[in-house]
Amino acid sequence: MRVLTNKPGIELAKEIVRVEKKKEELIKQSKLNFKVYTKRKKGIVVRSVCCVCECEVETEKYNSLEIAQYKAASLTLGGKRVNEFDVCERCLSEC
Ligand SMILES: [Zn+2]
Repeated sequence: MRVLTNKPGIELAKEIVRVEKKKEELIKQSKLNFKVYTKRKKGIVVRSVCCVCECEVETEKYNSLEIAQYKAASLTLGGKRVNEFDVCERCLSEC
């Protein structure tokens, strides 16, 4: 009985390890679908850019570059990518 109840846990742990390895590969190979950089010691993930002037419209801030890279890798694995069809407020007001 104990073996039976533990098995899904083992499979889940294996799956987590597999996903973590994939994230590390994406980061190492720079295959992230998002631009990630450091600003004032924080990690920044660019979620959307303006399609007119290419400025950053939406960014997410994390405590370190590593965390930001992992977050970007999670999003990339989930099939998400940077939104390139946004328009910033400045460009909107100039329309
Ligand atoms: Zn703009």
